[in-house]
Amino acid sequence: MPLPVFIVGGGISGLATAFYLKERGIRSTLVEESARLGGLILTDKVAGCELEGGPDSFIAIKPAVAQLAGELGIAHKLIGSNDSARQIFIVRNGALVPMPQGMQMMVPTKWRAALESNLFSPETKHAFLRERFSKPRQRSGDFSIRELVVDHFGEESLEYLTEPLLSGVYGGNASALSARSVLPRFVEWEEQFGSLIRGAQKSTPARKPGGGSFFQSFAGGMGTLVEALSDAIADSCTFLQAKVDFVNRDGMNAWNVGANGQTFAASHVVLACAAHQSARLIAQADPTLSALLGAIQYSSSTLVTLLFEQDQFTHALNGFGFLVPQPERHAIAAATWINTKFPSRVAPGKVALRAFLVDPEATQYDSLGDTQLVELVCKDLKRFMGFAVEPSYSRVYRWPCSMPQYVVGHAKHCSQIASQLEQNPGLHLVSNYLDGVGIPDCVRIASVTASKINVLS
Ligand SMILES: Cc1cc2nc3c(=O)[nH]c(=O)nc-3n(C[C@H](O)[C@H](O)[C@H](O)COP(=O)(O)OP(=O)(O)OC[C@H]3O[C@@H](n4cnc5c(N)ncnc54)[C@H](O)[C@@H]3O)c2cc1C
Repeated sequence: MPLPVFIVGGGISGLATAFYLKERGIRSTLVEESARLGGLILTDKVAGCELEGGPDSFIAIKPAVAQLAGELGIAHKLIGSNDSARQIFIVRNGALVPMPQGMQMMVPTKWRAALESNLFSPETKHAFLRERFSKPRQRSGDFSIRELVVDHFGEESLEYLTEPLLSGVYGGNASALSARSVLPRFVEWEEQFGSLIRGAQKSTPARKPGGGSFFQSFAGGMGTLVEALSDAIADSCTFLQAKVDFVNRDGMNAWNVGANGQTFAASHVVLACAAHQSARLIAQADPTLSALLGAIQYSSSTLVTLLFEQDQFTHALNGFGFLVPQPERHAIAAATWINTKFPSRVAPGKVALRAFLVDPEATQYDSLGDTQLVELVCKDLKRFMGFAVEPSYSRVYRWPCSMPQYVVGHAKHCSQIASQLEQNPGLHLVSNYLDGVGIPDCVRIASVTASKINVLS
């Protein structure tokens, strides 16, 4: 009898790993601390609305989730964002200013829109015009997003475009984040064309072949994917609700997984949880690998979902939502207008909003109770959107240390992790802290990892 494969963590990474193992005829045991599967993916259904407490969608250009949906038989449940209304606003001097058409992040590709926008000062507009003449540049080593953006477009572009756009994914500290790991396409443009504007104009925009929406999700919410995966692996995967305390080596080719006061023998262990959680589990088995994992920084986020009665709501919701640059920020960093981004998720007569706090505010306000936090969030929403009504429903989701930071030197750090991992046959790392932070990355990494696991029968 071969020793079983253990997966630690029942988020998308762990569930997808179990699914791809099943596809290869390999049974597994999945250990999840929480009574609920899905990890950061959590869809609540309230008053006929689908409210996402974590991710609400994934970018369509990365194919792994759509492929998985096909394999699960739920491709017909894929839905696209309502891109005909895809306008994002950015707070400038307290008001919502539309992000100009044609921006590829901080890079303008439509001159008129960028030069006429109220978002930028004349200095930044001059920087756009000058940037076209930048010479190709090869930088040695890694460098920060701040360096890249300020060199090309100046501080204002960093503060009012790049950082707010990054904040929903990383928390937005452009001085710390790696240009090579987070914005590799832009670094390639700098090397090839000099000018990022010319690079963006010469490259095809990051869209799905054949068009389609920029974001995809599922009818019924992201929870649909979790349910489909859980159902699909029910006959090949044993669920164990327990907190894993340690993962220790047992000789050269076996592992011991400690959970619930018991020790389980395993041939392979897949750590499908955050780097800091994995670091703790293997502290004894491999202190070097543990230290490398523990050094990966994370930031926290807090998400608040709110429902309002539409007949009392005065804002037009004429876009996907807005971003709040740091100099304009009180508490929230962004808000999504669900009625416009995913209209099918909101019941008639309701207005559904999501508001985000990221660090430093997520940590700063974490000691507030839910009621106070909702009050703070509503104050911001009212201030920026100009409505006066109170929500009929709200829920706070706190996600401490949930967003891995790909800081300067990330790629080098990852190769150190990869070579140290080679010293641990049978140990595998999946999740979003090595090679892509989104759900499609988690699914791709799970699929590749499962394909490398061989269990003698
Ligand atoms: C607020 C927010 C919004 C996001 N929005 C998007 C988005 O719109 N699109 C997108 O593509 N990505 C988004 N992301 C990123 C995406 O959610 C993650 O990349 C992905 O969900 C990570 O999944 P995972 O399975 O690797 O980790 P997780 O979902 O964190 O799952 C890890 C699981 O491991 C369990 N666990 C940890 N330690 C142990 C232990 N010792 N024993 C047992 N179980 C343990 C945890 O309980 C958890 O369930 C968002 C992230 C956040 C925080």
